[in-house]
Amino acid sequence: MSNIKSRFAPSPTGYMHIGNLRTALYSYLIAKSQGGKFMLRIEDTDQNRFVEGAMDVIYRTLDICGLEYDEGPDKDLGNGPYIQSQRRDIYVEYAKKLVDLGHAYYCFCSKERLDGLRADLEAQGLPYEYDGCCKKLTKEEIQAKLDAGEPYVIRQLMPKEGVSVYEDAVYGTISINNNTLEDQILLKSDGLPTYNFANVVDDHLMGVTHVVRGNEYLTSTPKYNHLYNAFGWEAPCYIHLPHITKEGGKKLSKRDGDASFEDFYNKGYLTEAIINYVALLGWSPGGEREIFSLKELEEVFSIKGINNSPAVFDLVKFRWMNGEYIKMMKPEDFHAAALPYYKQALTREVNLERISSLLQSRVEVLSEIPDYVDFIENVCEYDVSMYVHKKMKTTVEGSLETLTKLVPVLEGINDWSEENIHTTIMQHIADLGVKNGIVLWPLRTALSGKMSTPGGATEIAFILGKDETINRVNQAIEFIKASL
Ligand code: GLU
Repeated sequence: MSNIKSRFAPSPTGYMHIGNLRTALYSYLIAKSQGGKFMLRIEDTDQNRFVEGAMDVIYRTLDICGLEYDEGPDKDLGNGPYIQSQRRDIYVEYAKKLVDLGHAYYCFCSKERLDGLRADLEAQGLPYEYDGCCKKLTKEEIQAKLDAGEPYVIRQLMPKEGVSVYEDAVYGTISINNNTLEDQILLKSDGLPTYNFANVVDDHLMGVTHVVRGNEYLTSTPKYNHLYNAFGWEAPCYIHLPHITKEGGKKLSKRDGDASFEDFYNKGYLTEAIINYVALLGWSPGGEREIFSLKELEEVFSIKGINNSPAVFDLVKFRWMNGEYIKMMKPEDFHAAALPYYKQALTREVNLERISSLLQSRVEVLSEIPDYVDFIENVCEYDVSMYVHKKMKTTVEGSLETLTKLVPVLEGINDWSEENIHTTIMQHIADLGVKNGIVLWPLRTALSGKMSTPGGATEIAFILGKDETINRVNQAIEFIKASL
């Protein structure tokens, strides 16, 4: 086992954004592909954002996706606790240490003062930045305020001159002018750390070597590096990931139902397909192949394959990939997965196994199933113009004639097996001396009222049963007559 340790450090928001899932996946794969360890840490120091049950969403999603962590809240390898709100004392200790080292200072500025400062700067069209007022306090003044129990925060003392430079594994050399670095808050007045402080302390104390996260942290990373340097710690390898957008640069959104793992999972996307597709959002295996199981990804993943151009979430491709995974399912597994969707649309007792065998190669997403089978319950409302099919050379009048001739043929089938239905209808077509479509198109339309169905006319007739088939053909005859 190598010394590599990566981590996934989500804030419990109540759902798993696709971008977060990708962070978890890449982090997991970086560790696994190099024989390292993958750790889970919960970053819940922003108590204002507390969401009931949010932690469970994280555990459940990782579990469903098979992203098993070696170390985490319920697997303490001696670096715990792994939930930041349970590490308060550690952050206070390190923040004070940093004050002693001369890289941080107490700040007693009131909210009113800071609001005033913000308003002044805004009025001048300048961005807000703390003015360093409390830097000037003497040791004695600080002690007196602390003794008097004045609320305080601890701020990082940033260098104001020069340039900070670091190497990101994806974005290359990043340099930031130090005069843009604010004296950011490390410890808040409630005694809890900011993300900016906690991530550094924890990544160091927990032995994290590889930090994978969204590129919104790319420009704050120099501040973290100053913390590492101040403590005399080694900074980790940084792997910042590009944003995921839709075509045209639009953000994935909760409202459109395409932002989170749950959105897709609940629509009947398969976990394996989600993982496979998400893996390709910013990483390329460097060949034509696109279908990879998690196990295969663990073999082939490499940091070198991650690119920094925005990853485009292509729903059409994602659906295609999900369809490929559906095709790969064992028929009995597909049937089991399809059952709840049949229930949404069907109460009629029909041969669901047969429907599953027809659907498995057609469906891209399980949630399409009700739309495929709803006609079995009731023939869909349709327009007589559906009987007109250019390629099949069918007309409304012709269809009326075909269907009328079909009724006695269907009535004559005693054993309603799929094979019998098929041979009888094909014989009838041969006797008429017409092309297949002349009979099959009107029949399928009469039975379903749909342009696309799980199978052809004979399969549908079999599924519907003899009585229902003949009923529907008779109804269609009446319907066409009424329209002429
Ligand atoms: N808690 C941070 C977030 O959810 C994680 C950032 C990081 O991985 O360092 O955005």
